[in-house]
Amino acid sequence: MDFTFSDYRKLLGTLQEKAFLPIRFCDTGDYSGRVAIIRHDVDMSPQKAVDIGSIESETGIKSTFFVLLSSRYYNLVSGENREAVKELIRQGHEIGLHFDVTNYDEDYSLDELCDAIKRERLLLESLFDIQVRSMSWHIPKRELIGVNIPALDEIGLLNAYDPEFYNGYKYVSDSMMRWREPIDEYLEKAAYEKMQILTHPIWYSFKQNKKDLEILKAHHFGEIKKDCIYLDAIRPGYKDILELSE
Ligand SMILES: [Zn+2]
Repeated sequence: MDFTFSDYRKLLGTLQEKAFLPIRFCDTGDYSGRVAIIRHDVDMSPQKAVDIGSIESETGIKSTFFVLLSSRYYNLVSGENREAVKELIRQGHEIGLHFDVTNYDEDYSLDELCDAIKRERLLLESLFDIQVRSMSWHIPKRELIGVNIPALDEIGLLNAYDPEFYNGYKYVSDSMMRWREPIDEYLEKAAYEKMQILTHPIWYSFKQNKKDLEILKAHHFGEIKKDCIYLDAIRPGYKDILELSE
């Protein structure tokens, strides 16, 4: 499949044709038939998340969007991003915490990490007046993948990388714009009864005309443009000088 909105729509269509029940993490439990947890890690753009959320909403699908509080690309307290998350909530999607381990000291113990998770969870809950029931690691360390963390169970937080979801469901991801495994085929043949499908909304557009690094580069230059706007605000005329020298 291409990384286009239309191909994503097709993927959802196949899921429904093959009688998979699409669910959010907060809906997980005992199901007798085919089940697919639909998960999105919002690494860069809440607006792109809304594009994907809207496609799902049109087809009556609800999924889980994991958002970062520590992103250098978006700030959830700012108006447009807060609105984007609110829109996802209105569409019935679940908002979970995407937790960036690399944002904390290398030598943080697991207990200290869990304390940080609790703090970020509270922040996210108070920001949107919601209950946060699940989390996923952003750029997880190998030792955190497929590992049960009792401290998270104790606070009732579902971890997308817990063995229950990581091993108990067939996990397929589009990291760096590449499906490591043939997702189309898996769904078409209903090769697995239980699936956890992870996408990153940033890769999808109307037309797939860019590759992963080009998309990331475009964002990088977008950031530089924002710096120019800021400079122009505090020192008018500076932006033009910078743009000329590009
Ligand atoms: Zn991530």
